Amino acid sequence: MKFSFLFFSLLLSLTDLFSQVTSVPLTAYQSHEQYQEASITHRRFKHSDLEPLLLKLRDNPTFTVTPLGKSIEDRTIYDVSFGTGETTVLLWSQMHGDETTATMAGLDLFNFFAQSDELDPLRKQILDKLNIHFVPMLNPDGAEQFQRQNALDIDLNRDALRLQSPESQILKHLRDSLQADFGFNLHDQSVYYTAGTNPKPATISFLAPAYNYEKEVNEVRNQALQLIVLLNDAIQSFIPGQVGRYNDDFEPRAFGDNMQKWGTSTVLIESGGDKNDPEKQQIRKVNFVLLLTGLHAIAKEIYRKAPVENYLDIPENERYLYDLIIRNVQREMNGQLYTIDVGINRPEIDWDDYRQFYHLSRIQYIGDLSIYYGYQELDGDDLLIVPGKVYPKVQQDFQAVAKLKPKRLLKQGYTIVQVKDMKSNEHLRSTLQFDVIPEGSELEPEILLGKRANFLLKKRKKPKFAVVNGVLVEL
Ligand SMILES: [Zn+2]
Repeated sequence: MKFSFLFFSLLLSLTDLFSQVTSVPLTAYQSHEQYQEASITHRRFKHSDLEPLLLKLRDNPTFTVTPLGKSIEDRTIYDVSFGTGETTVLLWSQMHGDETTATMAGLDLFNFFAQSDELDPLRKQILDKLNIHFVPMLNPDGAEQFQRQNALDIDLNRDALRLQSPESQILKHLRDSLQADFGFNLHDQSVYYTAGTNPKPATISFLAPAYNYEKEVNEVRNQALQLIVLLNDAIQSFIPGQVGRYNDDFEPRAFGDNMQKWGTSTVLIESGGDKNDPEKQQIRKVNFVLLLTGLHAIAKEIYRKAPVENYLDIPENERYLYDLIIRNVQREMNGQLYTIDVGINRPEIDWDDYRQFYHLSRIQYIGDLSIYYGYQELDGDDLLIVPGKVYPKVQQDFQAVAKLKPKRLLKQGYTIVQVKDMKSNEHLRSTLQFDVIPEGSELEPEILLGKRANFLLKKRKKPKFAVVNGVLVEL
């Protein structure tokens, strides 16, 4: 009798723990769509897009929306707070202006708490225990120009000691006034990071920042480590093998490190890249899972059961990715053939008030890339790589370029078109099937480091593939 009771209660507590750990992430993942803020569908949004959404939350008694102060260029920075509990959680996103993924997820999180449905018990568990403060878009001036720094070109994440920027002061004052127990420092990282040395991108990376050079672990940091172990487990089924661990070298000027030092258990979450998700809408969903799971784990103190030593099992962030790798092609020089791989990236160039972009490719590496990976790869075994050519007929504008027949011209080796008017119809630029240069410009197509990637891959003089401004085209 005693035994079976013990067994029963053990079973009960195990299933309880199990369901607490596993069901919240799954529930969040499956239900995300119904809370997703529909007005934001791309990474490049601004304060003027965000502000009305935050002010609208004031209609809902769950939220208090407080202006905390103004950015250098006079944009209001808000604190969205909700929950009536004792444990204070401070989250802030976009201290780097062009890192918007967590802001999108934050809006989805607000929508979740704004609604009422069968998930009310989960809401109640969190709201009864926590006092949540979320500062979305701490750096609205940076967001305006889709750049990392603020209007002074200061990196806010190196301003935690000197506190020269109003945006940094706002965050510091809020933390001090709340004496926050937990902090979530929400960022985006390079899409070229991998989780360890494997081909998978570090779609999410974590860090429990150090609070001294010795990287000691006190109770404050230990809680952050445990929370990360739990969060890593929570998202592995959605992005298996795509979670990394950020370098924990102490950075005395950074906010995360200082938050930890000031007594707030701080988790850094970095959103990286994923295949076929250039606008990071899937990663936004994973962020939503992380935020909801994290809040629930703090509310129910489930993180305390997480084995802290598992933190070190998360593979470290490495940089092993390119946008495109062409492997094993033959390059001719002075009558000799050499086998090379070519690593190509496609950085974004802003236009249209930073709301749009096009790509200008760049050859990042030539040589042996056998231990590196590409989001896209081509094994060009036995193909000859030759530079593309500039089409001799100058085109009036992008509209004219769009009317050219790409396959025919590419087969003749023309990957680049000269254009008279590079300003009108700029929206067409990202859709063109040719690289474009201003009329009369000097650009000679070459297969060299730092140049744009324009070349053909030929088999016995027949073109099989072209790479046009870093984009692979089958001919
Ligand atoms: Zn950042």
